[in-house]
Amino acid sequence: MCGVFGIRASDRDVARLTYFALYALQHRGQESAGIAVTDGRHIQAVRELGLVSQVFDESTLETLEGVAAVGHARYSTTGSSRWQNAQPVIRHRPGRTLSLAHNGNLTNTTELRDELEGRGLKFESTSDTEVIAALICEHDGPLVDGVKEAMSRIVGAFAAIVMDEEQLIGFRDPDGIRPLVLGDLDGHPVLASETCALDIVGATFVRDIEPGEIVVLTDRGVESILAAEPHQPALCVFEFIYFARPDSKLDGLHLHRTRELMGERLADEAPVEADIVIPVPDSGAPAAQGFARRSGIPYVDGLVKNRYVGRTFIQPDQAMRENGIKLKFNPMPDVLAGQRVIVVDDSIVRGTTTRKIVEMLRGAGALEVHLRISSPPVISPCFYGIDMATKDEMIAANQSVEEIRQHLGADSLAYLSLEGLEAATGHGDDRYCRACLTGRYPTVVPIAADKERFEATQLPVA
Ligand code: AMP
Repeated sequence: MCGVFGIRASDRDVARLTYFALYALQHRGQESAGIAVTDGRHIQAVRELGLVSQVFDESTLETLEGVAAVGHARYSTTGSSRWQNAQPVIRHRPGRTLSLAHNGNLTNTTELRDELEGRGLKFESTSDTEVIAALICEHDGPLVDGVKEAMSRIVGAFAAIVMDEEQLIGFRDPDGIRPLVLGDLDGHPVLASETCALDIVGATFVRDIEPGEIVVLTDRGVESILAAEPHQPALCVFEFIYFARPDSKLDGLHLHRTRELMGERLADEAPVEADIVIPVPDSGAPAAQGFARRSGIPYVDGLVKNRYVGRTFIQPDQAMRENGIKLKFNPMPDVLAGQRVIVVDDSIVRGTTTRKIVEMLRGAGALEVHLRISSPPVISPCFYGIDMATKDEMIAANQSVEEIRQHLGADSLAYLSLEGLEAATGHGDDRYCRACLTGRYPTVVPIAADKERFEATQLPVA
């Protein structure tokens, strides 16, 4: 995942606006944050491991004066969490410096990197973003031509913003896997991963950047170029299920409402007699509200979430994840004791969090624990930027719903069906990438992937 933001506004404090936008996008990545600005002649950047609020303070922001800015909040899905992998990536070439912020994963990084290294190019990081930056930087001539050239070589998911001393450009992969929206701040163009970042800087939503589109941001607005013939759109459905903020609007849908609808469908598909419906906060809340309303069972808070603990998945290893869960949730025995509880969450990936939650609820006196999940089982890895790890780690990849129920220790377990999800989002494979739920990928993908390096061997497109 990752959050990206870009703005061109010569009469504004672009670094400060980018800082606030990154704050709104913090849920998309908590490993590192960075901002690059250009004053028209030089690029300056600050990027560091940590949260946006840890990386920047008043004095750092004051040093970043410019007319355009690019920002990034990072969550590593390829490349380790080292400082060198923090973004925006900076790349130099005689006479030009580039700064690039990227959300998504390429699926042909290894081939491209081997080719570029074979031509003598050097890389500082292990991230695929640097490969895109190198391809653009290699190109002589206007930045936009470099972007077009790079887009003809890279495969996979990319919603990206690149800036040189003079120009700021956004571009999106032909499948439109990761989101990128265009906003307007009093006549100044703004790009962001999600509309919640537009809201925070006071910009209005203009439109989604189209799959395969390049937009050049100028002081007068944007110039649009269709650089690649768009494929059948394949926006990531997991953005709807879990990732994007509920106050964002994606592909014309209000996410909070869409998640409520998922909960309503789930209540129709898998009703159960119980006394209360509780969400796994915060991600399960909209679907739990929908479930409760539809079933007529009262919605209450049974778990309190410590808001100062990051997403548990963000911690790189299993031992840290297990500890992270205890830090994150605390059950309320006053609410739960003696109750038959329906607990709603948006997804189960590894099952680690969910199992602990069931245990916690029983420990707090719940009589019965009925798990309702507002997405279908996650069965196949994501090659496009969501950290879902390998198939082996996915609890639903090789087990039946009944086996999973037993493993999690719940009295009952039901997932939303693919049809139910389709009804809530209004589309299926015709518009969204649902590869994590179906195993059908919109692009060629590597056969096996780890966080450090994608293998070159390719699976055919399903
Ligand atoms: P688990 O029980 O370990 O499968 O974790 C499921 C929880 O993790 C759910 O509450 C989800 O909201 C959340 N989750 C699902 N996918 C991701 C992801 N890619 N990154 C972080 N958290 C996730």
